[in-house]
Amino acid sequence: MNKKNIEKLIKELLTELGENPNREGLKKTPLRVAQMLTELTQGYTTTRKETINDAIFEEKVHNMIILKDIEMYSLCEHHLLPFFGKCHIGYIPKEHIIGVSKIARIVDRFAKRLQVQERLTQEIAHELHEALEPYGVGVIIEAQHLCMMMRGVEKQNSLMVTSAVLGSFREDLKSREEFLSMVNKAK
Ligand code: ZN
Repeated sequence: MNKKNIEKLIKELLTELGENPNREGLKKTPLRVAQMLTELTQGYTTTRKETINDAIFEEKVHNMIILKDIEMYSLCEHHLLPFFGKCHIGYIPKEHIIGVSKIARIVDRFAKRLQVQERLTQEIAHELHEALEPYGVGVIIEAQHLCMMMRGVEKQNSLMVTSAVLGSFREDLKSREEFLSMVNKAK
C-alpha cells in the first residue's frame, strides 16, 4: 500500500465533495486518512505466524473453552463504513490450546480488512480450526452496521448475528448447545 498515493486520492476526493482541501482543518486530513486506512486494513499483511507467535501449547484438556465479548471493529466492503460489536469464540481442544490474547489477535487480523460480517465469522472459525486442529470450534459475531444506521434504512437498533461452527460443533448438537448456552450466560 502506497500512503502517498492514498493521500493524493483523498485530497482529490475532498475537492470532489466541494471542499477546499487546503483550508486549515483539512490540510492534514489526507495524511491522517492514509494512516488510518493503513491501520484499519493491516490484516491483509499480517500472517498467521506473526499473529499466533508460538503461543500454541500442548495440553490434554478436552473441555470447552470460551472467550466471550471480544470487541470487534471492521469495515464493510460495500460502503467502507464501520461495523462493530462483539465476537464470541469457543473450541474444544484436542491436543493444543492457544494463548488467550492470541484469540483476540486472530479476530483483529481478519476484522482489519474490508469485510462482510458473514465472511469474517467464517474466516475466524477456519483459522482457529486450522491452527489448533481442535475437536470443534464455534464463532458468533453480533454487530451493528453504520451503513444501516447512518444511511439507507436508518435502523439504529438492529443487531446482525452471524455464526460459524466447525467439527464437533457442527456434528454434535450437545456441543453446539453448550457453546450457545455459555455465550448467552450472564448477558
Ligand atoms: Zn455496508
